[in-house]
Amino acid sequence: MIIDLKSIPQDNPKHLELCLEKGWWKSDDPDGQISGISAPIRARVDIYKAGDKYVLEGDMEGAVRVRCDRCLKPFDHKIKTDFRLFFAQPSRYANKAEIELLEEDMETGFINGEGIELDDVFREQLYLSLPIKSLCREDCKGLCPVCGADLNIQRCQCRK
Ligand SMILES: [Zn+2]
Ligand SMILES: [Zn+2]
Repeated sequence: MIIDLKSIPQDNPKHLELCLEKGWWKSDDPDGQISGISAPIRARVDIYKAGDKYVLEGDMEGAVRVRCDRCLKPFDHKIKTDFRLFFAQPSRYANKAEIELLEEDMETGFINGEGIELDDVFREQLYLSLPIKSLCREDCKGLCPVCGADLNIQRCQCRK
């Protein structure tokens, strides 16, 4: 869903409430950590103008299916996250180097064309909300590096 920035009123924020159902997730990366939505994700977004920028504030709540970093089994991971992002039109800035600086310093995203692709924003925020290591349970024993057996389920015969 693309938010047309021309539709953002000058004074008051544009408010959106969406529910991302299972079919929303398009897995284009089979090795990606998230493989789907396990409970519909409720997303709320406010978009408003601030000077020559647009601010996008929102939160998301639901659950995604992620892969355990140790045993590779998929499990449900609850999501509860909020975010604040800035967007600007690139034409206002002189050159590429300057744009990159701005992106680093102020977490400003740049808009291609007339709008913000909300689906991309949500996708990115879901990934950002994951812990550095996703574990199906804290004491997951993982896979044997030699034979690949799932050590949560069985003991293998390999020796160290
Ligand atoms: Zn695991
Ligand atoms: Zn083994």
